Amino acid sequence: MLLGSVLIFVAGAIAWSSLQRLYTGTLISAPGIWAMLLALVALLAKEALFRYTMGVAKRVKSKLLEANAWHSRSDVLSTAVVLVALVGAQFGIGWLDAIAAVIVGLLVGKVGWDLLWESARELVDTALPEDAQQDMHQVALGVPGVEGVHDLRTRQSAGHVIVDLHVVVGARISVSEAHEIGNEVSRRLRRHYPALSDVTFHIDPEDDAGEGDPSRFPGLPLRPAVEQALAERWSSLSCWPHIVEYRLHYLDGKITVVVFVDEALETSVATRLPDRLAERASDLPWLGGVEAEKALD
Ligand SMILES: [Zn+2]
Repeated sequence: MLLGSVLIFVAGAIAWSSLQRLYTGTLISAPGIWAMLLALVALLAKEALFRYTMGVAKRVKSKLLEANAWHSRSDVLSTAVVLVALVGAQFGIGWLDAIAAVIVGLLVGKVGWDLLWESARELVDTALPEDAQQDMHQVALGVPGVEGVHDLRTRQSAGHVIVDLHVVVGARISVSEAHEIGNEVSRRLRRHYPALSDVTFHIDPEDDAGEGDPSRFPGLPLRPAVEQALAERWSSLSCWPHIVEYRLHYLDGKITVVVFVDEALETSVATRLPDRLAERASDLPWLGGVEAEKALD
């Protein structure tokens, strides 16, 4: 960043003074040892950056980093041109010096501008192009069990690409199955984009695109509060001792309670159970429904 600013300043000074001399016909003074030294420092720094970045790119097999490395190498070449021109101007004579100095000024300025641009770009995270994002979307949708993908966001910074996305899965599949589907989405994205350094997936049991961060809204009661509220309403019922477990589904802003009953409960009673239980708990605003299943043990 500093080197870039200094080079632009030097370039401006060189170009301005030589243009003045070109018009007034004054004899030009040589660019001086400092300009040459600066160009040399820039050249060595860019060459070192090229070697370092290329080494990392080869090691992690990143095409993006490799492109960055070659960009540094092209800067090395233009800086070398600057250096040669500076030396030529130092030992040359007449108006040719002025022309050379203007070219030198422009070249030094370009290197400086590139340095500034590069560091500015790396300070500000940039998203991947739209077609790459569309492609990632399709890769994620191709995983079995994925019913939808939304809020896919990418950021790239200093050769690293970071992606996060929401993956919609079946509303009632298990947590571990949903997690494995998410892992497979990550694996396939990494295979398609080796430069990916970080994939974050968010599992959705239903499509919540555009609804915003759920943590900004009041939530539903968690299991301890649910169990307590249900016990208060159901413990006096004759079927209460047969209830062995609840499975809770948090969908559509409500909780559906699946009640598992033991084998001893008669099937005729069990089939009427959901209606009876739901009626007893109808005052609970968060209750979306009651279902019953026999627990096999
Ligand atoms: Zn979502």
